Amino acid sequence: MRSALILFVLLTGSALCVSAQQIKSNKGHENNPYYSNTDTHHLNVTNAQWKKILPPALYATAREQVTEAPFTGKYWNADAKGTYYCAVCGNLLFRSTAKFASDCGWPSFFEARKGSVVYHDDHSAGMDRTEVICARCDSHLGHIFDDGPPPTGKRFCMNSVSLEFKPDGAFKTAN
Ligand code: FE
Repeated sequence: MRSALILFVLLTGSALCVSAQQIKSNKGHENNPYYSNTDTHHLNVTNAQWKKILPPALYATAREQVTEAPFTGKYWNADAKGTYYCAVCGNLLFRSTAKFASDCGWPSFFEARKGSVVYHDDHSAGMDRTEVICARCDSHLGHIFDDGPPPTGKRFCMNSVSLEFKPDGAFKTAN
């Protein structure tokens, strides 16, 4: 009887813990049913739906490819340890260990998490560039260039507004 009671307490406690983490991981995204830091299934959401959910500045960049002005975003000179997720859908995109100081005015990374982004030829604005979009939600993140540092030589030039940073240990310190 006593062991059954202990088992019940343990199971209930772990269930509450999982529940609390899920709520915290969706903090600030309560109106976005597609947001997840763990689900990697591709989303098919129309722009009309996204427009109802996303803040206007995020919608403009993520869904209409509007580039934020350099040196204005919140992450271009950030160097804290943690993880960068897609601000639209929560897909895990970059680790801070792949971020490097760049004087371009946008957050820059030398590599993305494998499979987290896809690439499109972009001939807009009179330039030939390669656009980087989120593999889960197809949102515009920025562009990739060949002038990055080792080991890849790539520069993922991202819009801050398309990213959401979560510092290492965020879940633990929130408890
Ligand atoms: Fe996304």
